[in-house]
Amino acid sequence: MSYTPDAIRHITLSAATLPLAGPISDAKVFTGRQKPMTEVEVLFAEITTEQGFEGVGFSYSKRAGGPAQYAHAKEVAQLTIGEDPSDIAKLYDKLLWAGASVGRSGVATQALAAIDIALYDLKARRAGLPLAKLLGSHRDSVRTYNTSGGFLQASIEEIQHNASASLEAGIGGIKIKVGLPDTREDLRRVTTIREHLGPDVPLMVDANQQWDRATALRMGRRLEEFDLNWIEEPLDAYDVEGHASLTAALDTPIATGEMLASVSEHEKLIAGRACDILQPDAPRIGGITQFLRLATLTHQAGLALAPHFAMEIHLHLAAAYPTEPWVEHFDWLDQLFEQRLEIADGRMLVPARPGLGISLSPRARRLTHATAEFGRS
Ligand SMILES: [Mg+2]
Repeated sequence: MSYTPDAIRHITLSAATLPLAGPISDAKVFTGRQKPMTEVEVLFAEITTEQGFEGVGFSYSKRAGGPAQYAHAKEVAQLTIGEDPSDIAKLYDKLLWAGASVGRSGVATQALAAIDIALYDLKARRAGLPLAKLLGSHRDSVRTYNTSGGFLQASIEEIQHNASASLEAGIGGIKIKVGLPDTREDLRRVTTIREHLGPDVPLMVDANQQWDRATALRMGRRLEEFDLNWIEEPLDAYDVEGHASLTAALDTPIATGEMLASVSEHEKLIAGRACDILQPDAPRIGGITQFLRLATLTHQAGLALAPHFAMEIHLHLAAAYPTEPWVEHFDWLDQLFEQRLEIADGRMLVPARPGLGISLSPRARRLTHATAEFGRS
């Protein structure tokens, strides 16, 4: 059977504002750099082809930037109409060059990410395969840890309660935020949570870039006794040298990379031996095309992988990573989709559904405040 080229017939871009259950604070709020987070802005791309195949992808922003992602995507989306959706690399290049004046990182490529991810979803659906299987899986489930229960606005008692609920739901690890103005309070929280969990439950901490080098080293040394799986974002995301020194000085693995906005930025971390665990975010670095490039570099450098946020996408990408990764459990986006990811025995199961295995919920439609259509419906 030979392949009959298909063509993109229609694309819909939607901008949605997802309110969070309550205001969320990490260390950036306590240093006064950001206000508590109350919503996530999501950019959806839905693609339909002449042969009737469909794909959905999304990008997102926290706090500012969402309207710019949507505006940029609207400027370039028309260029995909009539193109073969299987030629993802060619399409990515075409969209990238259309916006070359505003660069190959950040908002410009985050806008393309929604389209790129939709194209991968479509390709996997066409093949009748879960995306992980299309890419080439190493496993059918991925270790998962919970983040959303451990933010800084929550009391220790609340975090203990949330952690117990996560473990009962089958989640394998617990991450809590640190980086409070009083480092003794950080240590008190970590001590209490480690005692609550016992020695066997994987525990991570995340300082969200708010320590300086001296504080990170001192805290890193004090945290060694808690047998943490990693210390996340101890320093400014772009401080390659500082991360490299810390990584060399501590036994506890250092994880970072979620805030970086392109493969090139990640390459500096890799070249600088700046961490043990890389935490790329596919929507943030321009989509799956870019993530796969980065995953190859990450593995070649001998680093572990723990992608940031967007578990609906990253579960598939992590399943295709050679060494055992982690996927971050965040339930925030649940209400945008009809399906729920299954979790059992500490692991998130790659869904058997083709593609990403997601479809937009009626709630996602209600939260949509702007749409733009291209091509023939
Ligand atoms: Mg983080």
